[in-house]
Amino acid sequence: TSTGSIKLTSAEQAEEFLSKYDDFLFDCDGVLWAGSKLLPHVIETLDLLRSRGKRLIFVTNNSTKSRKAYTGKFAKFGIVVNEDEIFCSAYSAAVYLKDVIEFPKDKKVLIVGEKGVEEELEAAGIQYVGGTDPALRKVDPTEEDIDALHYDPSIGAVLCGLDLKITYLKIANALLQIQNKDTLFLATNIDSTFPTHGKLLPGAGTIVGTLITSSGRTPVALGKPSEAMMDCIKAKFQFNPERACMVGDRLNTDMVFGTKGGLGTLMVLTGVDKEESIQPENNPLVQPKFYADRLGVLYELLGS
Ligand code: PLP
Ligand code: CA
Repeated sequence: TSTGSIKLTSAEQAEEFLSKYDDFLFDCDGVLWAGSKLLPHVIETLDLLRSRGKRLIFVTNNSTKSRKAYTGKFAKFGIVVNEDEIFCSAYSAAVYLKDVIEFPKDKKVLIVGEKGVEEELEAAGIQYVGGTDPALRKVDPTEEDIDALHYDPSIGAVLCGLDLKITYLKIANALLQIQNKDTLFLATNIDSTFPTHGKLLPGAGTIVGTLITSSGRTPVALGKPSEAMMDCIKAKFQFNPERACMVGDRLNTDMVFGTKGGLGTLMVLTGVDKEESIQPENNPLVQPKFYADRLGVLYELLGS
């Protein structure tokens, strides 16, 4: 083909690929599994990488689960991972607040989001309000409910992610906080949609979008492909980007994320983007350095 990307089709190429990297960052859906199905030879490939002393980091934009809860999702597929190997966007937000900007200990974060965000802020020792608190969950607010909304100077940041129990009152309350320009505006991720039950449903970006539209502000987004998330991953794992590789299935998120971060990239064809979309004549934003039919190719070429 005319693409500048190298397709992994021989044991020699696979060896050459592995020799370039010590750390592997993985997107999950479309790389390890597709919906509810584990992809072929994924477990064998992860074992192969581990046996060669590679470090594995699993990066997901899903903010609804904590790292701990996400290990349960891996276990359902029979993949054994350590909580420390998971980097979800809720954890990314916690690292950003704690280690990157050193959020003041006497301030609180207003969460528009779910339990995963609460658990990660809790673990980082960051005070929060909102989240799963039922206080603003009323779907038919009265004049009094609206009247009771107010700006709270003890709230130093609003952190918004996917919230299946979103209400007008929660949005209105968050807006009152970020109308003050001193209140930080953060988003766990701004995905337009997410895959579930064989459908694409409205993602965190649709909820963050209500606050962007109403406030006119742009949040710092802490999921892929934002550089802030890469900064958080680098803050935790301290790897050499030149010796790290981002593995993913999407050009406009995973491959952009890896490339902007100065990492190598491997695109697999088991998810959103297919071989045609990498071709230079199709004008992709980025070209992966390597690509393969599936992650399991590494084991198939080298393992047995
Ligand atoms: N947000 C939610 C709520 C999800 O369930 C998912 C995937 O399952 C995502 C985002 C996207 O996650 P990933 O970055 O692993 O593709
Ligand atoms: Ca994916």
